[in-house]
Amino acid sequence: MSSRTNRGILDRLKKGVVQGAEGYVFELERRGYIKAGPYVPEVVLDFPEAVKELHREFLRAGSEVMVALTYYAHREKLRDVGRENDLEFMNRQAVRLANEVAREGDALVAGNICNTWAYDPQNAQASSKIVRAMYEEQLGWALEEGIDFVISETNDYLGEALIALEVIKQLKLPAMVTLASVQQSQTRDGYDYVEACKILADHGADIVGLNCDRGPETMLPIIEKIRSVVSCYVAAQPVPYKTNAQFPTFESLRTGSGEQAFPLLLEPFLCNRFEMAEFARKAQTMGINYIGICCGGAPHYVRAMAEALGKTVPASKYSPVMELHPVLGTHVEEKHKEFLADWKN
Ligand SMILES: [Zn+2]
Repeated sequence: MSSRTNRGILDRLKKGVVQGAEGYVFELERRGYIKAGPYVPEVVLDFPEAVKELHREFLRAGSEVMVALTYYAHREKLRDVGRENDLEFMNRQAVRLANEVAREGDALVAGNICNTWAYDPQNAQASSKIVRAMYEEQLGWALEEGIDFVISETNDYLGEALIALEVIKQLKLPAMVTLASVQQSQTRDGYDYVEACKILADHGADIVGLNCDRGPETMLPIIEKIRSVVSCYVAAQPVPYKTNAQFPTFESLRTGSGEQAFPLLLEPFLCNRFEMAEFARKAQTMGINYIGICCGGAPHYVRAMAEALGKTVPASKYSPVMELHPVLGTHVEEKHKEFLADWKN
């Protein structure tokens, strides 16, 4: 294994907040390269340039980690779309693409494994074997292609997350393991999210936390509790949607006519860039170490978050200067001026 850069993820976290960015599958679906429903990242093989372009946009916007697009690129899912034979090539190619763009900046490359839909707590022994084999083959290829650490994410089950952690640790790589929080307060195998993160930390995860499902408002209170019970690094990667106490996840959001908004009718619920900038600030104040974004994420959010964290990034060259607009400049809401002022500095 060769490290992509001089400083690995743990060194960077020791020095301060590391910013990530995800939501590749959602964004590439919107751009017409991935089919909603199966959400298999066929784009990696069919339109590799589209994947590289999104990596590059996130890199320019401030993401310090290029996450290989291997989400759902596992045996179970590829079988669903009849591309099981492409499994190895798709996984290797995804890591190569991430590496190519990471080298354009100073970014790390993360291998990525996720919920498999193969894990069954009622049949834990047999299903664990299947899940472990899937993770081992995916990460084996990723390691050969070159990764700095692994993100195991969107975990519905603590049991499955622990298998992921074990496989990552066997490979002697830093492990970031984050849970999906689609249910009210517990994983699908019945562990409170906070307790589950504590267990993952106790089993040696370097970074624990939450990704996906919840927007800033409903993710931060849980993240704050996680921060208070673990001593390892904590990650928060919310979706940029306006979830609230009544509709805590983006899966639970309903349109005016009562229709489920997830996943194709979510636009009216999008946060604006200022709200995501504010999230980044709050997370930083809370002591969160890895701050990112998940499904729905796009480069303008990532840049606003980077700048809220005090960074100037390549895309800052084109950050808003609204006073140069002939009429709109005076119409910026008071609460957003703080961030615009930051952008000017
Ligand atoms: Zn997501």
